[in-house]
Amino acid sequence: MDVFVEKFADLKILRYSVPEFENLNLQKKIYIYYLSQAALCGRDILWDQNNLNNLAIRSVLENILKTFKGNRETPEFKQFEIYLKRVWFSNGIHHHYSTEKIPAGFSETYLDKLISSSKWWSFKTPSGMKFKSLIAEIKEVIFNPERESKRVNLDSEKDLIVSSSNNYYQNVSQSEAESFYADLKASVGEEPVSFGLNSTLVKEDGRLIEKIWKLDGKYGKVIEQIVFWLKKSVEFAENDLQKKYIETLIQYYITGDLALFDQYSIDWAKEVNGEVDFINGFIEVYGDPLGIKGSWESLVNYKDKEATKRAIILSENAQWFEDHSPVNPEYRKPEVKGVSAKVINVAMLGGDCYPATPIGINLPNSEWIRERYGSKSVTIENITQAYFLDSMNNGMLEEFAGSLEEIERAKQYGYLAGNLHTDLHECLGHGSGKVKEGVNLDILKNYYSTIEETRADLFALYYIMDEQMIKLGLIPSIEAAKAEFDSYLRNGLLTQLTRIEPGKDIEESHMRNRQLIARWVYEAGKSKNVVEFVRSNDKTFVRINDYQELRKLFGQLLKEVQRIKSEGDLEAARNLVENYAVKVDRQLHEEILQRFKKLDMAPYSGFLNPVYELKTWPCGTPNDVLISYDEDFTSQMLRYSKDFGFLPITE
Ligand code: ZN
Repeated sequence: MDVFVEKFADLKILRYSVPEFENLNLQKKIYIYYLSQAALCGRDILWDQNNLNNLAIRSVLENILKTFKGNRETPEFKQFEIYLKRVWFSNGIHHHYSTEKIPAGFSETYLDKLISSSKWWSFKTPSGMKFKSLIAEIKEVIFNPERESKRVNLDSEKDLIVSSSNNYYQNVSQSEAESFYADLKASVGEEPVSFGLNSTLVKEDGRLIEKIWKLDGKYGKVIEQIVFWLKKSVEFAENDLQKKYIETLIQYYITGDLALFDQYSIDWAKEVNGEVDFINGFIEVYGDPLGIKGSWESLVNYKDKEATKRAIILSENAQWFEDHSPVNPEYRKPEVKGVSAKVINVAMLGGDCYPATPIGINLPNSEWIRERYGSKSVTIENITQAYFLDSMNNGMLEEFAGSLEEIERAKQYGYLAGNLHTDLHECLGHGSGKVKEGVNLDILKNYYSTIEETRADLFALYYIMDEQMIKLGLIPSIEAAKAEFDSYLRNGLLTQLTRIEPGKDIEESHMRNRQLIARWVYEAGKSKNVVEFVRSNDKTFVRINDYQELRKLFGQLLKEVQRIKSEGDLEAARNLVENYAVKVDRQLHEEILQRFKKLDMAPYSGFLNPVYELKTWPCGTPNDVLISYDEDFTSQMLRYSKDFGFLPITE
């Protein structure tokens, strides 16, 4: 299976594989199948949430694509196709990331031509609306730059709701919405529901009312379908708690009662024994500038046994790592518990998780539920893996690696080593070490997060080259550790600069910590030439001359950074960060940006889903689920619109 599918505009379409799906038992396969159907059903909700015109525009554009009789080989038609693909990718007419309206790339006159040469006899115009006025409205929305210009406006100079063109509020101003929800919140106790999460706020006849997203309310036609598949999934659930929370979720969809959503979230957070898991609902609030309304999303997944095993080995040996750490013994933890991170594989993405996909999940969002009942935090193995495989073939490695040997090592061990680094960082790094009594970490102020990320990364870098890694069976040879050192320094000194605009400094704390470490070991190892910059063909590369010495330097810096944290040494923290992490070598930066530009890479990626087919025998009894990967982007989008297009194009 090829990871790369296609590229257009600033987007790249990739494919993830679903490892070991065939080897899951029948019950789990069927469970995943039904949950996946539920995951695909909510697509139209998200489109409508993103903008009132999205569904109408999608169906007009798709009808043109399917029925246009003219020449499809012209540059204009290619532009039209790219526009439609961009709209598909963003679940609407606004860029999924910047939320700006996507420019059409062709003229209004050309759209007229497309419309007049397409067939409309089977096109369903909403009742009471003339086809002509529908098209006039759509053209206005696509081509008038003043109309629906930004989906989520966060510029507080303007009314955030009026200036945002999402569809969560109708005829409502920011202050009206804010006071409406402030009043609701004022009247409750310590366990408030997430007011407003599942409704559109509308002003009708001068009164504010919530149109609730539920079975007999707004989006009811879609919710009916979601409920249908969730009901089917219940009998294949792995345990009683799963059954209970699915039933609660169904009741929540039927009634719209947010207290039921909280109950579902609590049980969901508590359920850790099953292999299959999913999210399905109105969850993240980034699409609303006020952070109240939940966009619909779903993600079905199951445990990755291999990767989870790795995390378990680390957390079982947590004490050994703590006792052998290079930090001052008084700053080691006498008793340390590793965090057992769960690693999952995605089986289906839907709504706001598709096609642009998260690489981890950390839910539920409700603060009091997290405090009282905990949360689930997982990393998604097969998505990370697809990104890695793609990164091995996009030209970056060839452009920036210092030698053929380095490239080979990256291809052979890079994935394993990168994951192990993440596990060491997450399962052990952050939890290690002890703060001196009486020290309040607030003292490190804005340097805290960079220092903390630096500490966790150094813990990982120091240990990945330890003999113990081979003994525990976590890496096959020391070459894997070398691959991690290569990539860490290549990124920290060179490639991460591609994400910084010319003339700017580094601000994001993970990027700061990576440069801090890379620059510090480079300077500290200068006398022994541990790491050097080499020039060849007018290009700069990084070469590591002594891996064991480099490891010692990581250990040395870890000791110092742990001391800084343990003692709350603000002065030292500031010096490290300001001297190594923030400033960018302008000349080098310029060079890196130019080399990167030549690679012509797409900054954003998204994923196609696999196709599942339920086999039944005899008499409608499910007896297998088959998986295949050969659908392309356009076919998948058209199929989803056809099979899961449950909403009328305007409500
Ligand atoms: Zn971290």
